[in-house]
Amino acid sequence: ENTQLKDIVAHAKEYGFVFPSSEIYDGLQAVYDYGPNGVELKNNLKQLWWRAMTQLNPNVVGIDAAIFMHPLTWKASGHVDGFSDPMIDNLDSKKRYRADVLLEDKAAEYENAGDKPRADALLAEMGKLLTDNDLAGVRQLIVDEKIKCPVSGTANWTEVRQFNLMFSTQVGSVEGDSTLIYLRPETAQGIFVNFLNVQKSARMKVPFGIAQIGKAFRNEIVARQFIFRMREFEQMEMQFFIRPGTEMEWYNKWKETRRRWHEALGLPADKLRFHDHDKLAHYANAAVDIEYEFPFGFKEIEGIHSRTDFDLSQHQALSRKKQQYFDNDLDEATGKPYGNYVPYVVETSVGADRLFLAALCQAYTEETITEGEGEKEQTKTRTFLKLHPALAPIKAAIFPLVRKDGLPEKAEAIFNDLRHDFRLVYEDRDAIGKRYTRQDLIGTPFCIAVDHQTLEDDTVTVRHRDSREQTRMPISELGRYIGDAVSF
Ligand code: ATP
Repeated sequence: ENTQLKDIVAHAKEYGFVFPSSEIYDGLQAVYDYGPNGVELKNNLKQLWWRAMTQLNPNVVGIDAAIFMHPLTWKASGHVDGFSDPMIDNLDSKKRYRADVLLEDKAAEYENAGDKPRADALLAEMGKLLTDNDLAGVRQLIVDEKIKCPVSGTANWTEVRQFNLMFSTQVGSVEGDSTLIYLRPETAQGIFVNFLNVQKSARMKVPFGIAQIGKAFRNEIVARQFIFRMREFEQMEMQFFIRPGTEMEWYNKWKETRRRWHEALGLPADKLRFHDHDKLAHYANAAVDIEYEFPFGFKEIEGIHSRTDFDLSQHQALSRKKQQYFDNDLDEATGKPYGNYVPYVVETSVGADRLFLAALCQAYTEETITEGEGEKEQTKTRTFLKLHPALAPIKAAIFPLVRKDGLPEKAEAIFNDLRHDFRLVYEDRDAIGKRYTRQDLIGTPFCIAVDHQTLEDDTVTVRHRDSREQTRMPISELGRYIGDAVSF
């Protein structure tokens, strides 16, 4: 199964989607850079999300808050005291692990061996110990389960400690006059502290939402599975402010809306599932993950959380500034306005990088094809990215069949005309088959070939990535044809 992820990682690097960070210095763990095709694909994902959230929902507006925030923000949100993972060190290998992940892996081992009851019992026991913050108990469980270090194979474990995931740094130039601040571990708090600024300046009425796309940072202990878990990543979050008591209605609505959006992007229904949280975070009264089946199993891509008034109330308490809304709608039961209250919040939170990985895993296709006829017939493997055209980094490639007879000039004219509306490439090197292959590898949905007939009747061939079929089409229809295909 992991071979497939390995193939995708290699493909992503070779074709300019994702590179390891600072690779010439052997990389930096769990940090990645996006290449020329990757940045296009990621921007497309972000733009589609932004459009779905703000343009298509008249009651959702956007903001772009700073990464640095007043340190009290993170005290209020609970991150200073509670945003940590239980870690354990192995003394022989000097490697650090997440205690809960070691136990989860052990449970998976039982389950794969057909002993689901034992797996469930182990997870339940671990859940209870973590809820009670019984770290000595967690260590004892690791010892009792005879869990060995994946690297050294020894069981020489230290005690379990809580490890805060926030990165910190200092602001201020004079020593002693500096303040410890954090790199935000989620974008949500930038929305909460701006709740009243946005509500007043944009004259929003509850229910309304605030959307934001931006970087977040977490000092993840277990960094693996490529861009699934990074130390610097991007979130697309929306906080929806509602009247207390209406949260389940909105929670269910957003759950369905968000699932449908993932399906529209091309993630098939049978590879998506909801996973309800039994163990809720301190701020939530209901929480669900939307999971996608990656090559390494079903994993979270988006979280939908009913956060009650936890965040706004906390900010109200620490900032001593009222975080209330006056609702002049009439309560049917009493006939009076609902009046002042701290709104409840339903949040949708999706990682741009995880979604990118899901889209890439879903698109990556290897198929066996036969080419040529008779003696020359041969079978080979064709690798291509079956991306939704709206996500494809390049929408169409324009090729003159040969580099003479006026074909390049004709092809360039088409290119210059269409490039105002779509991201295109122009290519005249190598045989046309090779040029098709190059576009398949990066997921370009259409290749437009200009040949001698084009000079006579102003038609071109359009070659389709998924079927490899070619159709003849007047140049004048290309813009609308591509436009329809890439619309979402
Ligand atoms: P996980 O359990 O996988 O660590 P989480 O429950 O901590 O995730 P949230 O805090 O709910 O995640 O964050 C919302 C979304 O942000 C996740 O669904 C995921 O898409 C993304 N995300 C969170 N942490 C990371 C990370 N380290 N790298 C990439 N994306 C992340």
